[in-house]
Amino acid sequence: MIASKVIEDLKSRFPNEPEYIQAVSEVLGSIEEEYNKHPEFEKANLVERLCIPDRIVSFRVTWTDDQGKVRTNMGYRIQHNNAIGPYKGGVRFHASVNQSILKFLAFEQTFKNSLTTLPMGGAKGGSDFSPRGKSNAEVMRFCQAFMLELTRHIGPELDVPAGDIGVGGREVGFMFGMYKKLTRDFSGTFTGKGREFGGSLIRPEATGYGNIYFLKEMLKTRGMDLKGKKVLISGSGNVAQYTAEKVLQEGGIVMTMSDSDGYVYDPDGIDREKLDFIMELKNLYRGRIREYAEKYPGVKYVAGARPWGEKADIATPCATQNELNGDDAKTLLANGIIAVSEGANMPSTPEAIEAFQAAKILYCPGKASNAGGVSVSGLEMSQNAQHLSWTAAEVDAKLLQIMQSIHSDCVKYGTEPDGYINYVKGANVAGFMKVAKAMMAQGLV
Ligand code: NDP
Repeated sequence: MIASKVIEDLKSRFPNEPEYIQAVSEVLGSIEEEYNKHPEFEKANLVERLCIPDRIVSFRVTWTDDQGKVRTNMGYRIQHNNAIGPYKGGVRFHASVNQSILKFLAFEQTFKNSLTTLPMGGAKGGSDFSPRGKSNAEVMRFCQAFMLELTRHIGPELDVPAGDIGVGGREVGFMFGMYKKLTRDFSGTFTGKGREFGGSLIRPEATGYGNIYFLKEMLKTRGMDLKGKKVLISGSGNVAQYTAEKVLQEGGIVMTMSDSDGYVYDPDGIDREKLDFIMELKNLYRGRIREYAEKYPGVKYVAGARPWGEKADIATPCATQNELNGDDAKTLLANGIIAVSEGANMPSTPEAIEAFQAAKILYCPGKASNAGGVSVSGLEMSQNAQHLSWTAAEVDAKLLQIMQSIHSDCVKYGTEPDGYINYVKGANVAGFMKVAKAMMAQGLV
């Protein structure tokens, strides 16, 4: 395989899918050497079979808003690869959702799920519907309309969706309710469910906690920990909130959080009480991060900007893709950043990744550092299948163990001759090898 040739070919076949091409390029560039050690892979054209999703379902979703106006949105499910287990991946509701973004996410998910050590394939879905500014009743009607079609394509051993941007406990509850009504089947076909109906303890916390467990492992390789370290966090949704919570538990100082309108910088740090305010603001009132600066004196709010210009030791982007570019990376490096751990999926652009790696700082791609969310989703599936539920401490211990095992795999496959750990290569090669071997064993299907 010559990675550049494969990428050029994919570009000409899928010319309007830049995020998908970006994600594929990052993976192929780093697995090329390992792939070419296995001529049998090339003979089976494994690379194309791995890049192109098994199946793409797209459909119209029709619903009625509170004014009685009939609205339409697009709905999608990308079933990327089920070589190692049932398709598994979140559902995103955001105005920016399109096929390219979901294809990149489903592709990444395949490698991420492989890294978790659990038997899960890769998928992603969603809609260009935005829950922002919608009433509860509108969100429920949309979720129900979305499920009228999605239900045909999912099932506990077939495809198990979960949350993502714009899809939290409320939306998963509405979707699960409709799925149950249509199928008359109470099975673990969604993860991230409420605790009262099969949801796993620690699932809401899992992505953020896992992100920080992974960061701790990275810091350990350089004899450091989080105590007293200043941390820049972007986003203020699920992943950002629990990343912040775990940073505080580990003795770090949270300097910033953000939303799509701007960011807040608190020179005194966002402590436990202030984080509770943000959680209430975002989860209960669905408010804006600017309100934090209105409540606490001395806090700076910067509209229309991201937090990467602030000085700190660690950055963890937890909002969305391509939110940290090459210039941001240069600024962070000039300000003495020592580690970047991604809570979001593909938040750093290729130029930013290149700058971090050239400077040999600790840098980990989201498919490894944010794999805690899907890991606990996998544990939720196991609990549902056995009709039992583990304690929070049991699930947290398993999460920690999985994050440590992903870190070890990255070290195993990503350590370079000079000792620098290339986490991008490590995660991609480790994730790829398992899927590749399973595909080879199963023949041309
Ligand atoms: P949420 O919807 O809970 O939060 C998203 C946050 O990011 C919000 O603060 C939102 O601001 C902000 N945001 C969203 N889009 C943009 C944008 N285009 N520009 C700037 N800010 C934006 O989502 P999650 O926390 O669940 O997801 C965040 C990231 O983590 C995503 O990349 C997701 O794929 C990834 N991820 C999530 C997992 C999970 O378990 N939830 C698992 C693994 C990865 P606003 O409120 O203004 O929209």
